[in-house]
Amino acid sequence: MNIGLIAHDAKKTLMQNFCIAYRGILSKHSLYATGTTGRLIEEVTNLSIHKYLAGPLGGMQQLGAQIEQNGIDALIFFRDPLTPKSNEPNVNDVVRLCDTYNIPMATNIATAELIIHALDRGDLDWREMYK
Ligand code: PGA
Repeated sequence: MNIGLIAHDAKKTLMQNFCIAYRGILSKHSLYATGTTGRLIEEVTNLSIHKYLAGPLGGMQQLGAQIEQNGIDALIFFRDPLTPKSNEPNVNDVVRLCDTYNIPMATNIATAELIIHALDRGDLDWREMYK
């Protein structure tokens, strides 16, 4: 499965720790991330990540395009709900696309853990039907 990973700056350490904790599961899948998030995950894990441009420089749109092309099966997007973002429309667009295409998406750690366990159990295997 193709897993998307994005974290706003205030949530990047959380994303690193999440990926350390679940690297065993994540390593069985293809990982795609916005540039800085991907680099920071690679720095603390042995995971190999396809890195797009930095989020505000086009990476968010690149991931969005991959969702539109049915190329993302689940998205973990640790948003910072307290700080306005310069690229807010692109942030909202990624969320909108996940809802448009019924892509499982977590925007906080509680839901991310549900998704990662579901992924490991095979609960998301229905995604294969759409390919
Ligand atoms: P980044 O993008 O991973 O390149 O920082 C996410 C963001 O827009 O903060």
